[in-house]
Amino acid sequence: MTYQGVKFKVVFNNKKAPEDPRINELIKWCQTFNLKSLAPAYEGGSFGNLSFRLKENSNEFIISASRVVFGQNLCNDCFIKVTGCDLKQGIIYAEGLREPSSESMLHYAIYQKRPDINAIFHGHSKEILAKAEQLNLPQTKKEEPYGTVELVNSVLEIIDKHNFIIMKNHGFISLGKTMKEAGRISLDSRN
Ligand SMILES: [Zn+2]
Repeated sequence: MTYQGVKFKVVFNNKKAPEDPRINELIKWCQTFNLKSLAPAYEGGSFGNLSFRLKENSNEFIISASRVVFGQNLCNDCFIKVTGCDLKQGIIYAEGLREPSSESMLHYAIYQKRPDINAIFHGHSKEILAKAEQLNLPQTKKEEPYGTVELVNSVLEIIDKHNFIIMKNHGFISLGKTMKEAGRISLDSRN
């Protein structure tokens, strides 16, 4: 898979780094993903994206920026607040200093579909993909290019019942009521 950057249009409400004490917890999970090889390096960034919902009954969330290196010192500048999304037109509304993750549409659509979920962690692991068939893990029907509406729709088809799914030939998504829960599911999936 080659990385071509963010595929949707980003409209910035403002260019300020988001402020929220929970970003520290998200940073710890980005570091854990790096240490446990769940977000391998690629073209100057880390291959994965982690987010948490800001409050109940709202789909606003904080997500890692595009091309963030999880192994480096992370601060608020490396995270973006997503305030809205127009899935039909491919527009993300955001606040922050960088482009939001290329899978921001996917995170938005999952928060919309699953009000019970407050954290979404997406990573990549050849080992987990290899086990998916064998363990009969819930999996999208076919491979779709990253950052597209087709990928979003393929995930929405199966995400209503599961908190851990495989995107075919691509990676995994863990959902949790809390970041701790999403992180725990991600780590357990390696065993
Ligand atoms: Zn991915």
